[in-house]
Amino acid sequence: MKEDCIFCKIANGVFGSYTLYEDNDFRVIFDIGPATVGHALILPKQHAKNLFELSDEVAAKVLPLAKRVGAVLMEELHCDGMNLVQNNGETAGQTVFHFHMHIIPRYEGDRANITWTPGEPDKEKLEALAKKIQEIVQ
Ligand code: 5GP
Ligand code: ZN
Repeated sequence: MKEDCIFCKIANGVFGSYTLYEDNDFRVIFDIGPATVGHALILPKQHAKNLFELSDEVAAKVLPLAKRVGAVLMEELHCDGMNLVQNNGETAGQTVFHFHMHIIPRYEGDRANITWTPGEPDKEKLEALAKKIQEIVQ
């Protein structure tokens, strides 16, 4: 646990929160500034600044948990859709530097704004980049 980290404190029960789910690795809470009704956050109990610091073991459990909690929220809230959002770095919108996954229920006509304007792909650049990345990723 990192002493100055708010999500370490919440995940490990030092600070109270509305908890939807808890196990050895995670606490799932409601967001304090919800985008929509039911907006929840998956918090690992172990501190990791972002996805790239998260252990593979914990990372592998995040999506199945999002699926389980998300399915229950869908059922209970009768929402029309759901976004999973996970921000890494200030530029990407991260404001709390302890890994978390947002589960955002979506309702027709809601005002949550999770979108972008499609750009034009630079085909030459993409081809070169794809070749290079293929050699590195394993
Ligand atoms: P980020 O922008 O880092 O992806 O998301 C951080 C989220 O954490 C925000 O949606 C914000 O409302 C939420 N948040 C920040 N502090 C607290 C807190 O003390 N309690 C809860 N429940 N949510 C928090
Ligand atoms: Zn932390």
